[in-house]
Amino acid sequence: MTGWTLRCIECGKTWTLRVSFNLEDMGRLYHYCPHCRRNTFHVVEGRVDEEEGGGG
Ligand SMILES: [Zn+2]
Repeated sequence: MTGWTLRCIECGKTWTLRVSFNLEDMGRLYHYCPHCRRNTFHVVEGRVDEEEGGGG
């Protein structure tokens, strides 16, 4: 599963959004921030590759 590290420009915290599409071209993204608990702009910091399987 691919995710993206987003940094909220309001609170400055980073978190991972799990989506399959490419956000790199967007540069910034208006999305719900789990810390602010509202929609804010986010800077796309980079891609995160999570390990498959997990065995949970
Ligand atoms: Zn925030």
